[in-house]
Amino acid sequence: MEHSKQTLEELYAKLSIEDEEEGGIVIAPQEIVKKKDAFVLVGRFLTEKKINFVAMQNMLADLWRPKEGVEIHDIGGMRYTFAFYHPMDLQKVIDGGPWSFEQSLLLVNEVKENGDPRETKLDDTEIWVQVYDLPTGFISENILCSIGNYIGVYVKSDPANYDGLWKVHVRIRVKMNVNKPIKRRMKIKKSGGDWSWVNFKYERLSTFCFVCGILGHGERDCNVVYANAGKVVEKAYGTWLRAPGRGTKNNAGSRWLRNGGSGESQWAGKNSQTQSSEESRSKEDIQARFEEVDGRISEIQN
Ligand SMILES: [Zn+2]
Repeated sequence: MEHSKQTLEELYAKLSIEDEEEGGIVIAPQEIVKKKDAFVLVGRFLTEKKINFVAMQNMLADLWRPKEGVEIHDIGGMRYTFAFYHPMDLQKVIDGGPWSFEQSLLLVNEVKENGDPRETKLDDTEIWVQVYDLPTGFISENILCSIGNYIGVYVKSDPANYDGLWKVHVRIRVKMNVNKPIKRRMKIKKSGGDWSWVNFKYERLSTFCFVCGILGHGERDCNVVYANAGKVVEKAYGTWLRAPGRGTKNNAGSRWLRNGGSGESQWAGKNSQTQSSEESRSKEDIQARFEEVDGRISEIQN
């Protein structure tokens, strides 16, 4: 019996291999279709922590409120797909970012047609950067583009930067690589002039390390701290890199003033109920920040 069983197994193995070798099918590119009319983002959270999938998908869907709905799947490898059914719903999520869940930044990227969400690169995030101390006369698309490309990859500039009014800061949207330290400032000068420093603050900046300046961990988990165990390590970064909440700038008045700050996204309208005091803002309460974003999205929708 034992002998015949082995033989059968061997025979089966042999057959299977031959079957597999001969049974392949060739698929023409036009036959590979994306999920029916879906526009797909892939994402991962910049954290080692386990993500509560149910809580995460409910929170993000509530925040994004995509008109045509969203379907979220865990595809393994700490990655999730977010399938939208209208390109505007997808674009709104990209433009409204960065998003986070329980202080962990969500890195997202669009899955191109026939792209593999498991292979899509996920190491940058778009963020609004406030640029301070720019010398007078330095506000031009070219200069702001160069500054953006110093921080990361320049995406766009707030149209209000060019409205001619004097500003405490200008805003640029930048794609930032999360594996590199945050840029704190840069030197700038007119040819023949003197160097001066322009300083950066980042809007809705999630967890980052005050020692190495990299997003996604605190100093407790920092490689630099571990490498220098027992020694005092300098903290070259700090909370000053976080931009104050909307409406907290020097020139900001009532939250009902549409032009109360630096343009388009200053106005949070009736949804801005979390801006009542400096104190509550400084707490960086996650829910408040979500409500703030929520207000901005409803502004876009209206
Ligand atoms: Zn670190």
